[in-house]
Amino acid sequence: MDKGRREDPMHDILQELKTRLQEINDLGSATSLLHWDQATYMPPKGAAARARQLATLSRLSQEKFVDPAIGKLLDQLEPWAEEQPYDTDDASLIRVVRRDYEEAIKIPTAFMAEFSEHSALSYQAWAKARPENDFASLQPILEKTLDYSRQLADFFPGYEHIADPLIDFADYGMKASDVRVLFGELRQQLSPIVQAISEQAPADDACLRQVFPEAEQLQFSEEVVRQLGYDFQRGRMDKTHHPFMTKFSLGDVRITTRVKEEFLGECLYSVIHEGGHAMYEQGIRRELEGLPLASGTGAGLHESQSRLWENIVGRSRAFTEYFYPRLQALFPAQLKDVPLETYYRAINKVERSLIRTDADEVTYNLHVMLRFDFELDLLEGKLAIKDLPEAWHARFAEDFGMRAPDDRDGVLQDVHWFAGQIGGAFQGYTLGNVLSAQFYSQALEAHPEISDQIRQGQFDTLRTWLTENIYQHGRKYTEPELIERVTGGPVALEPYIAYLKGKYGELYQL
Ligand code: ZN
Repeated sequence: MDKGRREDPMHDILQELKTRLQEINDLGSATSLLHWDQATYMPPKGAAARARQLATLSRLSQEKFVDPAIGKLLDQLEPWAEEQPYDTDDASLIRVVRRDYEEAIKIPTAFMAEFSEHSALSYQAWAKARPENDFASLQPILEKTLDYSRQLADFFPGYEHIADPLIDFADYGMKASDVRVLFGELRQQLSPIVQAISEQAPADDACLRQVFPEAEQLQFSEEVVRQLGYDFQRGRMDKTHHPFMTKFSLGDVRITTRVKEEFLGECLYSVIHEGGHAMYEQGIRRELEGLPLASGTGAGLHESQSRLWENIVGRSRAFTEYFYPRLQALFPAQLKDVPLETYYRAINKVERSLIRTDADEVTYNLHVMLRFDFELDLLEGKLAIKDLPEAWHARFAEDFGMRAPDDRDGVLQDVHWFAGQIGGAFQGYTLGNVLSAQFYSQALEAHPEISDQIRQGQFDTLRTWLTENIYQHGRKYTEPELIERVTGGPVALEPYIAYLKGKYGELYQL
């Protein structure tokens, strides 16, 4: 056949590209495994050598990836790839690798080394200054970070907004202008909901604040996430300080958790959250294994999957009706006299609070949007670093009706700006919330029976829908492309606002 003959030379070139990419992927997996070990079982005295080992591996994989030979292979393959249907595995691979490659080679190695060193020093300074509430000592460091962030963006000229290239690192294709409009509307819609809820007596979550032994909490969380569809043949769960999901291959996607014996809300919901991230990765098509397509597409989309399972499913009434009797049976002394309604209200308690990571699903977005807006203002030069702490307090008062007592629980609370660039670090969290509802409403439209199934502890229809529409594709599509494919349009607020109004309207009789 003509076609076969024509494809043969391309086949060899493609094979060579794939072989190189798989080697880089193997180095990346080894790096991830060392990270996972560092965050779980590594003894403290292993830290210094581990830092060096991680640096060696990432240098090797970086060197292999920016090798001009990769660029040449892409040059040779692109004319062929452009003739293939857009969404074939090979055409998608070449398109995505070209994007990654251009990104990698545009940032000079010397700049990257300097910026990494600055970030490491900045992190150390932050770790010391935050407990001491000492913004002054960090100000010059953060000014330098802002300078580096602008330089970083400028390696990608032609942007519409200076934050765009930085947003691209996490959420490729999302523009600052679009996110700003979306967040502006969300803030307007959220503020009155938060205001109305805070005028009422706060939900009583004392039932969650008893002593729940660790072993039973872990056992229950494992049972829940297994039933949701997280595959323990291709994963495992271990304890850590800050829960995360990591992947070494499509057959080895791990989650981690932490347990607070005196607070039931911690372990279970963080396991469901990380389980959501992990099911996304476990759902990627086997054929993409070992290549850059075999991973989730974008921070916001990834977060939409963890939040969908954690909040929309895990904190729903239907889910609670199914699992709460089991939880009562496991902790009879603590919960047998606590009615389901009390538990349901407790796990959905909304309260204006100072710290983003402790926030409930309603107020959480206000924390994120505040940070996103500051990133834009700083990058645009509208706001100076020296004025940031006070600007933070003022905006916080506006959005939350309260003021942090100090900078420690104000501008110093998050590590992001002290461990990387300013720009692109936060929008994914709220995009994830918004998208979780948009996707879920789409799934319900296709399968209205999903909510009844959840009430019976069945999650296959939902998970299969997510796998078919989202998970299986890996990074084949950008976030905007995938959202368009799944929902027929761009990111939309309405499903999320409807979800919040429905759920919290009922809970708080709004
Ligand atoms: Zn997450």
